[in-house]
Amino acid sequence: MQRFDDDGRLIVPERTHLVDELKKRGVHLEGSIHIHQAFCPRGHMLVSDDNKQFNGLPGIKVHVVGERGDELVTITPFLKRRDRIGGEQFQVGDRLHICCPACGIEMPVLAPCDCQWNGEFVMFSLDENPTNQNAVCFCNIWGCPNGDIRMAGDVIAEYQRNYEL
Ligand SMILES: [Zn+2]
Ligand SMILES: [Zn+2]
Repeated sequence: MQRFDDDGRLIVPERTHLVDELKKRGVHLEGSIHIHQAFCPRGHMLVSDDNKQFNGLPGIKVHVVGERGDELVTITPFLKRRDRIGGEQFQVGDRLHICCPACGIEMPVLAPCDCQWNGEFVMFSLDENPTNQNAVCFCNIWGCPNGDIRMAGDVIAEYQRNYEL
């Protein structure tokens, strides 16, 4: 895509074009940025209409396994939010395995988190066919400030900046 016009000015994409592009990547911009789908590495859909809801939208249902126990937890579909339903047994600093409720496979690690607990960003693909870039992620430590849902591409870019890769 051409990013600058002939006079060297940044081309700002049309908003409708931008919204369409994001939608193709599974990110929806209808008043707020949220996702309508997320997949385990084997292609199981983790967002379905009967999941617990956040502001009227179904969340991402995962099987969370920690040292204290395991439980189904629903995570907000809104980016940059940390709301979740369930998981009261877990405590700040607990390292969690985030697994698919259908097949039990653990969500893959995207990058290390720089939190005090040495957490890891685990990711959900936004595509049935998993790729690193088209995904969302969050830190697998309960209570980590990086526990909000973020775009995988943003986390990778930040990591590359911090470590000058
Ligand atoms: Zn699965
Ligand atoms: Zn963390």
